[in-house]
Amino acid sequence: MPDMPQTVTYDDDKPHEECGVFGVWNAIDAAALTALGLHALQHRGQEASGIVALSENGKFNAHRGLGLVGDTFSDAKVMSALKGRCAVGHNRYATTGETALRNVQPLFAEFEFGGLAVAHNGNLTNSAALKRALVRRGCLFQSSTDTEVFIHLIAISLYGSVLDRLIDAVKQVQGAYSLIAMYDGALIGARDPMGVRPLVLGRLGGAEGNSWILASETCALDIVGAEFVRDIEPGEVVVIDGQGLRSIRPFGRTASRFCIFEYVYFARPDSIVEGTPVYETRKRIGAELARESAVSADVVVPVPDSGVPSAMGYAVEAGIPFELGIIRNHYVGRTFIEPTDQIRNLGVKLKHSANRPMIEGKRVILVDDSIVRGTTSKKIVEMVRQAGATEVHMRISSPPTTHSCFYGIDTPERRQLMAAQHDVEEMARIIGVDSLAFISLDGLYRALGKPGRDSLKPAYCDACFTGDYAIPLTDWAHEPERIGARSIAAE
Ligand code: AMP
Repeated sequence: MPDMPQTVTYDDDKPHEECGVFGVWNAIDAAALTALGLHALQHRGQEASGIVALSENGKFNAHRGLGLVGDTFSDAKVMSALKGRCAVGHNRYATTGETALRNVQPLFAEFEFGGLAVAHNGNLTNSAALKRALVRRGCLFQSSTDTEVFIHLIAISLYGSVLDRLIDAVKQVQGAYSLIAMYDGALIGARDPMGVRPLVLGRLGGAEGNSWILASETCALDIVGAEFVRDIEPGEVVVIDGQGLRSIRPFGRTASRFCIFEYVYFARPDSIVEGTPVYETRKRIGAELARESAVSADVVVPVPDSGVPSAMGYAVEAGIPFELGIIRNHYVGRTFIEPTDQIRNLGVKLKHSANRPMIEGKRVILVDDSIVRGTTSKKIVEMVRQAGATEVHMRISSPPTTHSCFYGIDTPERRQLMAAQHDVEEMARIIGVDSLAFISLDGLYRALGKPGRDSLKPAYCDACFTGDYAIPLTDWAHEPERIGARSIAAE
């Protein structure tokens, strides 16, 4: 693997794969466009980022670094070493343990056909099983990221072309993935058969012809001025090369189970996901929540930033004034990134402060997108009470998070999920609110334009709220208590 700019200790062997990916085909300064795209996708991963660029003489150059995209790719020397018209980039989101630079994507390897760079967002659910089999066959793993499984599967494939080898690999993996691969000949984008994680296609027109972009979200197309063409479809593999773009369907037509939590929390509000603007959707979720769980109050206050659009929707529907009663300090990372419970608790105070005049003497409805461990809510409620609220009601724009995600959103183990341990009444008591309500699962589906959740054919992956894991959890099969799965369809 070329280019290891920093010395690190290799002690993080837990895979954490919540990420953003970006790829460029045929554009001047492809690496600079990629750095911009990764910057727009920073919310999908703040821990590390990397870019591999392919120069016009077929040479691959890579740079990877820990920390924010702007810090890693602002050095002119770094950028000038990443010359080329094609590039692929990756943001990594890991939440515990130390990050080893060897895990920072894109991964790059030399094969008999030449170099190949791969970046992927998601989580494979049979990677441990595949890894064991690959190691038995003599494959030497250098990282603990699932992406390396793709690299070895491609390396040992008996197929001739790179594309056939990649298809051979995706047919063996289970899990959620949106991946971008680049070699001297093509840029490839692929989504898992259920399309759990997002991937979009964009185009940049220019004097020298079309440039193609692949990105996790449309906000990354906007930053480089690219036009949105379409979503890559579930189970689709697109190949972009000198002949243009072609689509392959190695799995035939598959039913989509896009991650519902991307709408609730993860995607950026200005992104358009599967044809639906995330911001509008969040407002509709808030309105639905207001219809389902009305309460008399003087003011609706979002927990910023992620609670803002749903709180706006709630306030309009309820006819209660919306105020920024909590102010967020933007110079602190997301609560989840901090490694220990102690620091995480402190992080909430660092991150949010009460805007006293908007709260004092008022009955407050707090709106947030989710309760995971309950740490954030508890601290926020305490802070709002200290600022003089006479009543505090909490409304959550997702159903209770009762199950861990194994498909690429970082959630703690099941036993740490507040809603897995307590019912809503107990949660209200622990958090310290006068009332607590979550949107119903059907309400969430209605806000997404569906009549409700069709339990036989759910439109989304909602395993974090239902335990309905549609993709087999092969690597966790021996740990049923960790999964806590139950089939919603059978109920
Ligand atoms: P907690 O304090 O554990 O209950 O976390 C809830 C808060 O974390 C909410 O305000 C969410 O906006 C945010 N959140 C939810 N899921 C995630 C995630 N996967 N990564 C980072 N933050 C999250």
